[in-house]
Amino acid sequence: MSKQCDIVRDILPLYVDGACSEASAEMVKEHLNACADCNAIYQKLLSHTSEDVLHEESESVIMRHEAKEKQRGRKKITIAVLVSIALCIIAIFTALFLLPINIAYEPVKIDFPFEVEDVENVEMYHYDGVPESAEKKVVVAENDIKTLYDKFKGLSLKDKTTEETAGADVTSFRFNLSDGTSYDLIYACYGVKNGELKSAAGGFKYFTSADIGSYWNNLNKELEATPVNESELPGSESISQNDIVLITAKSKLVKAYEDDFEKSRNLIFTGNRRFYKYE
Ligand SMILES: [Zn+2]
Repeated sequence: MSKQCDIVRDILPLYVDGACSEASAEMVKEHLNACADCNAIYQKLLSHTSEDVLHEESESVIMRHEAKEKQRGRKKITIAVLVSIALCIIAIFTALFLLPINIAYEPVKIDFPFEVEDVENVEMYHYDGVPESAEKKVVVAENDIKTLYDKFKGLSLKDKTTEETAGADVTSFRFNLSDGTSYDLIYACYGVKNGELKSAAGGFKYFTSADIGSYWNNLNKELEATPVNESELPGSESISQNDIVLITAKSKLVKAYEDDFEKSRNLIFTGNRRFYKYE
């Protein structure tokens, strides 16, 4: 587009209205004959009344306004979606960190209701598959008693069931206190370093991967093993149940064992499950 085109297009409206000077009109006329582009604009102006132009202009203004409104609407929707997603993420994180999570695998710990100094001796019982073959060792050395006491105190037990196989390797521990009470723990090994620690009196059974069974052979090589009657074994039915109340964080009072209080063999758990002496 030439410079002359620019000038012609500026004065075209005046030319159409017959309002420009004769000299200008002459110049425009000449240019329109020679320039097809400017002529096309001229023809358009001729066919349009001023009302048409006004109408067209107002239409375009309305259209531009509508387009802008739509864009704004889209922006509003986008912001709303982003805010919802952010709120969902916050809600999920809150649920994960603040609400109580599944406690099924929460480890529990044994908290003996007595001190290591109260223990007079620990009777270890062991049998491989058949209780008739059971043997017993009596641990009296202070440091050996402490080793066992600390081991059980430090254990993290899991509330997880294992496949119970027949003929388990069973090692039990009876903590005899100087006041005459005793506390039993039974370990049944079902695999390599894989078994359950149980309390017949407390009614619990917890999974442990600790190598409890090795204490039978390795705690003190000087200890002499003597045969023992099956009825004497920890967990045996001939041994009376204890007075224990099982309390969990959820139910508070789930189960109570009420029997011979004098001979009680009690265990107290910390964590979600607690065993309390019934008094
Ligand atoms: Zn031109």
